[in-house]
Amino acid sequence: VNAEVLAVGTELLLGQTVDTNSAWLGERLALAGIDCHLQVKVGDNHDRIVAALRAALRRADAVIVCGGLGPTHDDITREAIAEVMGAPLVPDPAVLGRIREMFAERGRTMSANNARQALVPVGARAIPQVIGTAPGLICPVGDKVIYALPGPPHEMREMASREVLPDLVARAGPASVIVSRVLRIWGLAESRVAELLNPRIEALQGAAGGVTIALLASSTEGIRVRLSLRAHSPSAAGEVLDGEEAAVRALLGESVFGVDDQTMEGAVGAALAAVGLTLGLAESVTGGMVASRLVSVPGASAWLAGSVVAYSAEAKRSVLGVPDGPVVSPSAAMAMARGAREVLGADIGVGVTGVAGPASDEGVPVGTVFCGLVTPEGAAPSVRLSLQGDRDQIRQAATMSVLDLLRLRLMHPPEGP
Ligand code: AMP
Ligand code: MG
Repeated sequence: VNAEVLAVGTELLLGQTVDTNSAWLGERLALAGIDCHLQVKVGDNHDRIVAALRAALRRADAVIVCGGLGPTHDDITREAIAEVMGAPLVPDPAVLGRIREMFAERGRTMSANNARQALVPVGARAIPQVIGTAPGLICPVGDKVIYALPGPPHEMREMASREVLPDLVARAGPASVIVSRVLRIWGLAESRVAELLNPRIEALQGAAGGVTIALLASSTEGIRVRLSLRAHSPSAAGEVLDGEEAAVRALLGESVFGVDDQTMEGAVGAALAAVGLTLGLAESVTGGMVASRLVSVPGASAWLAGSVVAYSAEAKRSVLGVPDGPVVSPSAAMAMARGAREVLGADIGVGVTGVAGPASDEGVPVGTVFCGLVTPEGAAPSVRLSLQGDRDQIRQAATMSVLDLLRLRLMHPPEGP
């Protein structure tokens, strides 16, 4: 079975509401093993909704429409579906009774517009509403089907989970699932990841029913490599994905910092806990963002001593003991790391200083960030980063880079002095 999603609402076209319903439905359809090759948005216009429904029914076995079931004049999905079905709209007494009850429970009077929500095309079945006032619809059209769901996301999700997805799965026959696993990467450019993965992607292309690999890049969160495949059960898929994950890791090495929901800060926390060392930070350009991410990890108190946010040159000197001279420099970053280690009484000290822009500082170009790291074994040379983007992107990328440096250093402790 192949389904399309049609999101109805002029606000979606104008960008006033982000179409999260289609994203959620796309994910759920994939998990249920239902193919979804197209998602379309259309405004609150009768003729265009009718045309979009007809076009979708030509291509797909099922169409999930969301939005336009409300009580206002621009909620016209019901009428459009009735036209496509060639069926009149008649009031459904059970639905009408339920809407009446809901208004009575809330001590409000029902308007004529709400009565419109009880109209159902002849031949269709209403999906009872549990949360809102709008019922959904299951509308057979020949051997195909249109499902109509309310626009408000919590109502849409409840009704889709309860009635629509089970109905689609029943139509699809023998169960199959699409299962994905995401490997998260930092420190490699997207083009480099693509290059490294290319032999694997090419090898998979010929193979029937195999894994597909997709790349998704973000300047602040790194690159996600998504492995997905269709299988009879999640456990069968899991075995195949285990093998594929190993193959991808062999190509990308230690730049893989996590899988699925695993975060960079989680990886750093786990590494610190494993070696039993504590961390003290001195943050300038990141203004506490490194600490904030680490604090989001449950149990961080076991390995995070704290962070000194030292933004002005004076604060760096007086609190952290950074010597006179430029404060965006390798030696300042190192002095900050030493200062943090001392002031916070930590085993490892990290200092980060840089220029987030928009203007350059002390003649140092925007995006230049220095990171110093001092461990019980001693200090490694400061690392210089050249980051791209606006102020916020540079600060976020600096945060990720600092955490990644720490992660890699913890994986490879240097030989003692
Ligand atoms: P409607 O059923 O068209 O009256 O939609 C009611 C409300 O649900 C809208 O005002 C939006 O806030 C929300 N909504 C409608 N469609 C979507 C969508 N595709 N994604 C997220 N929210 C939506
Ligand atoms: Mg609407």
